[in-house]
Amino acid sequence: MIVVSNRTGKILALLLWCLTSQAFGQTIYDRMIFQNQELTPAVSQQGPRALVNLQDPAVRRLIDLSSGRLRWSTTGQTLFVYAPGRESFWTFNSPTVTVNGQDITAPGRMFGDQTTTMIEPAALIYALCLRAVPSTAGGPTQLMPMLHSVSISNEAYPTVTIRASAPLTYTVEKPEAGLVVLKFTDLIWAGEERNYVQGSLKAEVIGGSLPGEALEVRLQLPPAWDGQLKPGTFKNELAITTVPSSQLVGAGPPVGLQRIDYRRAEGDDLVIFYAEEPVRFSWEFEPGTRQLVMELPGVTMDTPPSPLEAPGNPLSAGRFEQLDADGIPVLRFTGQVAPGYAFEFFEIENARGSLVLRLAPETSLTRLDNKGTAATRGYVAAGGRGVVVIDAGHGGGDPGCYSRHHGVYEKDVTLDIARRLKTVLERQGWKVLMTRETDRDVTYAGSPDKMELQARCDVANDIGADLFISIHCNASASGQGNGTSIHWYKEEDYEFARNLEPMLGEAIGVGNQGLRRDSFYVLRHTRMPAVLVETAYLSHPHDSSRLVQPQVRQLIAERLAGGLVQYMSGRYARAGNYRQQPMR
Ligand SMILES: [Zn+2]
Repeated sequence: MIVVSNRTGKILALLLWCLTSQAFGQTIYDRMIFQNQELTPAVSQQGPRALVNLQDPAVRRLIDLSSGRLRWSTTGQTLFVYAPGRESFWTFNSPTVTVNGQDITAPGRMFGDQTTTMIEPAALIYALCLRAVPSTAGGPTQLMPMLHSVSISNEAYPTVTIRASAPLTYTVEKPEAGLVVLKFTDLIWAGEERNYVQGSLKAEVIGGSLPGEALEVRLQLPPAWDGQLKPGTFKNELAITTVPSSQLVGAGPPVGLQRIDYRRAEGDDLVIFYAEEPVRFSWEFEPGTRQLVMELPGVTMDTPPSPLEAPGNPLSAGRFEQLDADGIPVLRFTGQVAPGYAFEFFEIENARGSLVLRLAPETSLTRLDNKGTAATRGYVAAGGRGVVVIDAGHGGGDPGCYSRHHGVYEKDVTLDIARRLKTVLERQGWKVLMTRETDRDVTYAGSPDKMELQARCDVANDIGADLFISIHCNASASGQGNGTSIHWYKEEDYEFARNLEPMLGEAIGVGNQGLRRDSFYVLRHTRMPAVLVETAYLSHPHDSSRLVQPQVRQLIAERLAGGLVQYMSGRYARAGNYRQQPMR
């Protein structure tokens, strides 16, 4: 809580504020415009500092409009502000702030406590990834959204992701083959870097230094590839996936197809392609005629197999053709999908180059989009399923959060779940390492947080683990928060997190809070796909009543193990993952 010292101070401060803001045209914060909405928060003055209250309706509105999200740490001492592309951690009256994992000089300070939090508007505007443009002649301050980051994922189909602090408005132009130009209006470029390269894909940011200056992102695609726009994973994101251009030209040398199997198992039809290497593929389903066409660019086979005549089966009239698209081989499969059936694609674990088309009753499959592209991963574990590091959150001197309803500590719940998960995974053939197997700190009691967390990452990094999973229980100050959330940070964490998402939540009798991108230390500093699972809230009466039951903790372990297998076997292209639209 901030109290302005006395009446005289207030008047003096007001005078000072009038002089600086009006007479010299400086930024004023009690009249701001963002996305055509005028916001008039109450600004109070403490000494030289102008402050706004985080509970002020105009401040709440600003946070909403900019898609920002605030969260307090369990101790109530640190405020996390999540803006698209900018995550900052603020501590009361601290001259520094942690932004995307780096400590910098804070552009303003935060005072008070968790109930009444006052913050300098410049700090809040920075945290929300906006820029204040001072008006002339005492008019309102314009808040400009920023294009915050451009990133290129390193996958079979590299994707360029563009994030901004407001919904993106843009036009697309293709002045020449292989060049895509996105033009954004009313955005300021926030980054330092302007050139991004991943393989033969390049992205360049031009302009956007000043309000009103055009901002362009120019994408140079690999030869004979095209880009497809789709919404990003988060609000205010745009993703451009690179795909072989309309002729479905394969990149790289041709891949041989060794054989094709056709199987009927428990009412499902399976067509299994065994290629020498992981493959890219596209599909198109015509709902009227129920014809499904799959194309595998760059894939050759010596003798296409005979047609699949299977009248009455989910898949019938299947035939294979070897086509030639401007000198590039394309293997095409065409088949009829029976009414009431849907399809999905996956690969067989430990069969490098395998791709399975599965048909099953519509009721048992999430329907795929009618058109899409994907690629197999070709995962093969050496001597078994792979190496998993399980990190039981907290331990020893750090108890984590606490359930006052049941008198249990987070460190004990996480260790129990971790031990159960280890048992289940080992039974399935995984090699499992735990960061701790008893109630202890991984380093030593009282070690600094950072050292403790780095030690947990080191366990996984040092042995080159395939996956890292950190298990936690959540808590909220209000006691209202509930449900499971799965946290990820690096690009390669996302697919892993996505496979775990449906495993807990409703399935273990608590709510589902979905996936969240958070720059947690153990996610940032591990060199393999990693997730942090907040199983449920120990501070919530119902959630904690679930967590204290051994059979629920066993269920959590089994469901998480199921998610790991699903991730490793690569169930591709579930609905919503390949929302593609042709670029115009
Ligand atoms: Zn925790």
